[in-house]
Amino acid sequence: MKTIIHWFRRDLRVSDNTALHEAWERSETLVPVFIWDDAILRSPDVGPARVAFLLRSLEALSKNLESLGHRLIVRRGEPAEQLVLLARQVVASGVFTNRDYEPYAVRRDRKVAEALYAAGVPFESFKDSVVAEGREVLTGAKQPYTVFTPYSKAWRSRPMPVPIPRIGAAKRPIPTAIESLSLPSDPSDLGHVVSQDLFPAGEHAAQQALKAFLVDGVAGYDTGRNIPSLPSGTSRLSPHLRFGTVNIRTILSKLPSVAGGAGVRTWETELIWREFYIQILANFPHVAEGCFRPEYDRLEWSGTDEQFQAWCTGHTGFPIVDAAMRCLNATGWMHNRLRMIVSMFLTKDLLISWQRGERYFMRQLVDGDLAANNGGWQWSAGTGTDAAPYFRIFNPVSQGEKFDPAGSFVRQWVPELRDVPADRVHRPWENPLLLGRSGYPAPIVDHAHQRERCLAMFKAARSGMAGGS
Ligand SMILES: Cc1cc2nc3c(=O)[nH]c(=O)nc-3n(C[C@H](O)[C@H](O)[C@H](O)COP(=O)(O)OP(=O)(O)OC[C@H]3O[C@@H](n4cnc5c(N)ncnc54)[C@H](O)[C@@H]3O)c2cc1C
Repeated sequence: MKTIIHWFRRDLRVSDNTALHEAWERSETLVPVFIWDDAILRSPDVGPARVAFLLRSLEALSKNLESLGHRLIVRRGEPAEQLVLLARQVVASGVFTNRDYEPYAVRRDRKVAEALYAAGVPFESFKDSVVAEGREVLTGAKQPYTVFTPYSKAWRSRPMPVPIPRIGAAKRPIPTAIESLSLPSDPSDLGHVVSQDLFPAGEHAAQQALKAFLVDGVAGYDTGRNIPSLPSGTSRLSPHLRFGTVNIRTILSKLPSVAGGAGVRTWETELIWREFYIQILANFPHVAEGCFRPEYDRLEWSGTDEQFQAWCTGHTGFPIVDAAMRCLNATGWMHNRLRMIVSMFLTKDLLISWQRGERYFMRQLVDGDLAANNGGWQWSAGTGTDAAPYFRIFNPVSQGEKFDPAGSFVRQWVPELRDVPADRVHRPWENPLLLGRSGYPAPIVDHAHQRERCLAMFKAARSGMAGGS
């Protein structure tokens, strides 16, 4: 009788799951397992918003499996050790999983494969979270793309994969003697105290979000995606794609039936950005440690710790930046336009390294994902692939006026500015009396001056000279 273990990581669903379906189809007894990995739980890059989302998605997964007669086994410890132990206990003839492309995951999976091999248990991994992985989309010269537009054209020319059926009922139950940990009742049991709002989690929530966006959001996405105060302007599927509570195949399969012309195409382009950065990380893993373009590792960032704290807490005196950061701290999520504004502000106005911002985001974000986060930060800093050139510098005031013209987003998150009229809300310093009364800070830097310093800093790094302040 064949027993196969399916190891869940970033694929927390029972529908459209490649490795899970293979394991179910090819076994008599399916053993679905999730392993709490302390190396991840204790990493400074992991924060409460993501742990809470993960925990609630696991609760939903466990229920979904139960409704099909399956039982989720939960273990805690070093994955290679835990999988060898479980494989021996259930006398497994294989361990299946879906591939993860982050450097830590690649190292971990290599170790798992070796340990299982030594124990005589085959380990099989499957492509699942992307349409195209690793070196599947290459330039004419057989090199990975480093420029988005030609990559997206090549990506679009590939046949689109179709969703994989949901797994069926358990054929034979896992013996009751095989023990499982209970899921913790609260993220604090895992060392993460949550103070943020809880983001809807689990496979059902993902399906609901997708459905709602296809009905209300995607047709107007072309313009709506830039307005942070618009609730259905973007899909808010990023945490679900991050943890695999929905799969890209399911999403793409629903697009052809949706009327929405340019909106649909633009949204699909965003989904391709996700894959672009995943393949950048897989093919150029050095980006996890430094600039995609190494000459920019020479940049002499000169911003202070005090300025960094003002940015983190939303007290820079630039309303759109502060509103965005306070929203991130309170909810674990931030709109894409705002991510671009605050990352550009940290690097180009405060002259603080993109890597400090990247780490702060990773800890706060419910959708924190090394590939997308690193790609986004390097894009804004101008150190990345086909990045915005370093001399493209957003003006935080005109960005606020353009994308939050009525000031409603600012007023929602910066109560000090609640009574300021729309024509002043993005430049409150023009009314010093108001600033004094509200307690809202004056701008901590002068944008025009910092812009010049930033350009000098980049020029110095590009010419290989030190200095630039
Ligand atoms: C500095 C910075 C940091 C970022 N960090 C992350 C991160 O940690 N995790 C993350 O998922 N995204 C990150 N992004 C990309 C983007 O901001 C989010 O994916 C998006 O805001 C999520 O909202 P949504 O699901 O409503 O997106 P939608 O606009 O509905 O887009 C659909 C999906 O496409 C993908 N996507 C959209 N834009 C991008 C993009 N620019 N790069 C990669 N994928 C994209 C996401 O999976 C998203 O869920 C970052 C962007 C910047 C500028």
